[in-house]
Amino acid sequence: MQVPASFAYERASSVRDALDLLRRHGPDARPIAGGHSLLPMMKLRLAEPTVLVDLGGLAELAGVAIEGTNIRFGAMTRHADVLASPVVAEHLPILVDAERVIADPLVRNRGTVGGSLCQADPSEDLSAAFSALRASVVISGTNGDRVVAVRDFHRGPYETAVAHDELVTDVLVPIRPRTGSAYAKVERRAGDWAVAAAGAVLTLDGDRIADAGIGLAAVGATHFVAVEAEESLRGAPATPASFTTAGALAAEHVRPVADQRGPVDYKRHLVEVLVTRTLTRAAARARGEA
Ligand SMILES: Cc1cc2nc3c(=O)[nH]c(=O)nc-3n(C[C@H](O)[C@H](O)[C@H](O)COP(=O)(O)OP(=O)(O)OC[C@H]3O[C@@H](n4cnc5c(N)ncnc54)[C@H](O)[C@@H]3O)c2cc1C
Repeated sequence: MQVPASFAYERASSVRDALDLLRRHGPDARPIAGGHSLLPMMKLRLAEPTVLVDLGGLAELAGVAIEGTNIRFGAMTRHADVLASPVVAEHLPILVDAERVIADPLVRNRGTVGGSLCQADPSEDLSAAFSALRASVVISGTNGDRVVAVRDFHRGPYETAVAHDELVTDVLVPIRPRTGSAYAKVERRAGDWAVAAAGAVLTLDGDRIADAGIGLAAVGATHFVAVEAEESLRGAPATPASFTTAGALAAEHVRPVADQRGPVDYKRHLVEVLVTRTLTRAAARARGEA
């Protein structure tokens, strides 16, 4: 049985307390949220924090709510709570689609929004979905808060914009009228990590596309935003031809790697199909047809 190296444990009583603990214990301390990524990494000795600062008791960091023109997700909101949220069901079907295919109920009951984004695994589904949504991440430190676009938040595999003495507290998603969204993933078996996955968000202006967001998972070393495909859609008619063109462009520009989940050509093909499919579904939802 794999066991982690020894570590000390601190349970934070507030965000301020968590930040103080992280600062006091230095760069070898790590926050722990659901523990579904960090603990496996510790057991494999891929992470060896000397102190864990548990965020589990911080009710102030949990929940989904509409605040002004944004939907706010507390960092400690569990996957299961995202899936059960009426606000998400009404405004952000892309997250319902994504959460349904993340792991299993056991993982979804513990894993959190903040932990998922901070893990920065290139195969992680919520980062792709939040990238498509052009969400922002609120990062708190002892000197105050800063807001970073999720597209700038991931610096590379397992690397983010969060410093060792900072915490993610919230994720903000703008609410936009006439907007539809969808997520689709191909996995080898139910609940597995993606072979490839795509999320699409479309805002319509009449029959034309006012704006588009496309996020991808498991297509290379970083979370990938299909910029060329997004640009091809802006101002284009919301038709199957536009979606097919965007799917082909997305596939052309991804850089997947061959691994146990499949060869490069297969993953590229999946990107084309999934981008086209999610754009089609997002457009139907924006029109209120699905
Ligand atoms: C069997 C299994 C299958 C899975 N399948 C999928 C899947 O199909 N798709 C998918 O997307 N995910 C999948 N996951 C991952 C799952 O979604 C995890 O919940 C998620 O990656 C991490 O969330 P967590 O709350 O458990 O984070 P933790 O493991 O607690 O933390 C992860 C990292 O984030 C840091 N961190 C956590 N919270 C904060 C914060 N607020 N501020 C700053 N840093 C923070 C930690 O220090 C750590 O470095 C799977 C996990 C398991 C165990």
